[in-house]
Amino acid sequence: MFTSVKDRTVIVTGGSKGIGKGIARVFSQQGAHVLIAGRDTTALDAAAESLAQGATGRIETVAADVSQVDGCRTIAEVALERFGAIDVLCANAGIFPDKLLVDMTEEDVDTVMASNFKGTMFSVQACIPALEASGHGRVVLTSSITGPITGYPGWSHYGASKAAQLGFLKTAAIELAPRGITINAVLPGNIATEGLDDMGADYIRGMEAAIPQRRLGAVEDIGNAALFFASDEAGYITGQTLVVDGGQVLPESPAAMEGI
Ligand code: NAP
Repeated sequence: MFTSVKDRTVIVTGGSKGIGKGIARVFSQQGAHVLIAGRDTTALDAAAESLAQGATGRIETVAADVSQVDGCRTIAEVALERFGAIDVLCANAGIFPDKLLVDMTEEDVDTVMASNFKGTMFSVQACIPALEASGHGRVVLTSSITGPITGYPGWSHYGASKAAQLGFLKTAAIELAPRGITINAVLPGNIATEGLDDMGADYIRGMEAAIPQRRLGAVEDIGNAALFFASDEAGYITGQTLVVDGGQVLPESPAAMEGI
């Protein structure tokens, strides 16, 4: 099952760290050729070296900023130069700076929306011709439970950007279907990454206590969900979302977690 990505070409934006690196690892271990994109070349080189361990496909890197339309186009162009095709786009790059609503500036909102929402939309747009040409194009977005399902103080702009990805998803799925391209989204709960480490030990302990499975997710948990959406077996699924959160959104109150 789900072995159809072997020898397929995959772009993972934000593939140099965290969830994106986990997605890249899952695909590369299945024999896919993976282009990881991010802004920091040092992080890209380190990720490529790490991903090469156990990879059976090629790992390539490109430095590009998805908050700029030109950056999104560069990623698609480099994938075509290096691989000659794009079969799968994992639009995963994102940022999550926190700021309370009372302090929020227009610039704060624009920065988050540019990376998380516009970066998603224009990464997808840039890849449409190649995804269509592949005959089995797949797009997998990394959204979040934050915004579409839950809220968290400091993340009103972030939550809006993650919900915006899903609003985009519904219409994009209709427009892309005649081109043979599916587009779906994974909604991670709290996943253990370098980025989340910055939130501090207290935040992480609090999150673990609120998750029925009592652990943060692993980046590979998201990679496996992305692999499913990218597979031939998922070819009739489009415009859909999959929550991968260890049950985090289920308790209706803290009392639901007591005594379990
Ligand atoms: P992370 O560890 O901070 O990694 C973010 C990745 O995105 C890095 O590779 C970063 O590379 C890249 N990136 C950020 N802005 C970019 C830009 N403008 N252009 C190109 N690349 C950019 O974060 P993460 O936790 O893995 O998050 C990845 C995705 O998962 C995000 O969309 C986030 O919203 C979502 N998510 C995460 C969690 C979680 O618990 N970690 C939960 C729900 C959803 P550079 O900085 O070098 O550009």
